[in-house]
Amino acid sequence: MAQPDYQLIIVGGGPAGLTAGLYAARGRVQVLLVEKGATGGQVLLTDWVDNYPAFIDGVSGFELMDKMTAHADRFGLEKKFAEVSSLDLASELKTIYLENGEQITSNTVILCTGARPRKIDVPGEEELQGKGVSYCATCDAPFYRNQEIAVVGGGNTAIQEALHLTKFASKVTVIHRRDELRAIGILREKAFAEEKIEFLWNAQVSEIVEGNNGVESLNISYNDGSSSVLPVTGIFVLIGVVANNEMLPMDQLETDSGGFVITDTEMRTKLDGVYAAGDIRSKQFRQIVNAAGEGANAELSAEHYLGTLA
Ligand code: NAP
Repeated sequence: MAQPDYQLIIVGGGPAGLTAGLYAARGRVQVLLVEKGATGGQVLLTDWVDNYPAFIDGVSGFELMDKMTAHADRFGLEKKFAEVSSLDLASELKTIYLENGEQITSNTVILCTGARPRKIDVPGEEELQGKGVSYCATCDAPFYRNQEIAVVGGGNTAIQEALHLTKFASKVTVIHRRDELRAIGILREKAFAEEKIEFLWNAQVSEIVEGNNGVESLNISYNDGSSSVLPVTGIFVLIGVVANNEMLPMDQLETDSGGFVITDTEMRTKLDGVYAAGDIRSKQFRQIVNAAGEGANAELSAEHYLGTLA
C-alpha cells in the first residue's frame, strides 16, 4: 500500500472531532483534523451549557468550545480549515477530497461531521431567513428586545431556547404539534412557570407572512382543522437536526433512515479503519458530553486498528 499522508484524519471539529483530536495528538498519532468553518460546531450556537461535567456554574457554548480547542492545541493537534467534498473509504488507503482540489490520504478516518437544524418547509421560511426566521436563539435573541416572537418545537432545544428568549422578548409563544412536550421535566417546569411563555398546542405553522420589515405574522393550523393568525416579528424554528452527510460516501457506509451513520459500540462503522462520533452517528441522544466521549472512543478504536497494521 502507498504511504498515506496521515495515520488518522478527523473530519469535523465539534466536540467529537476535537476530543478525538486531543486523544490522537496526545497519543502521538500522525493526525489531521479538517474543519470547514471554526472549530466548535453546533455548540457555538448554544447560549449556555449547564450540564457539561465539571463546569459547576455552567459555561457559555463559545467558552466551552474555545477551551476544547485550546486543550487539543496544547498537544499540537494539526488542523486544516477546508471543506471536504467527498471521501473514498472503501479501500485500505482512505482518500479525502477537498473542495480546493487537494487530496489527502490516511490509514483511518473518524467522521465527526455533525448535524444542522431541521426546517419546517413552509411558505415564507426560506425568503424570510435572517429577516425574522432564525434557527439560533443565541445568535439572534438580542434582535427581539421587547417584541412578541414564536418558537416552534417541543424538545429540549426549543424549550431551553424559549426560556433564553424571555430575557429579551416581551412574549414567547411556543408552537408544538402535540399536546405534550418532549423536553425533560426540569425544562418543562421552568417553561410552565415562566409568565412570558405561552403555548399553542396541537398546532403547526402553515405559513410565515411577510410585512414591511420582515416577519409580520404566522398562519397556524391546528390538528382539529381550525386555524388562526399569530402576530409575531420573529420565529425560531428549533425542531431537531438533519445529518451533515452530503460529503459522505453513502453507498459505502451503513446509515439509518435519517442518513445518520451506524456504528457499533466502539464507534466502528462497517468499513475497516472508519469510525463515526458525535451527532452524525445514529443514536437517540445528542449531548455534548456524549459527542466528546464518542470522539475519545473512536480515536482509541482507530489506534487499536493502527496497531494491527504495524
Ligand atoms: P428533538 O428532541 O428531536 O425534538 C424535536 C422537537 O421538534 C419535538 O418536540 C418534535 O415534535 C418537534 N418537531 C420535529 N419535526 C417537526 C416538524 N416538522 N414540525 C413541527 N415540530 C416538529 O430535538 P432537539 O430538541 O433539538 O434535541 C436534540 C437532542 O439534543 C436531544 O437528544 C436533546 O435531548 C438534546 N438536547 C439536550 C439539552 C439539555 O440536556 N439541556 C438541550 C438541548 C438539546 P414531537 O415531540 O411531536 O416529535
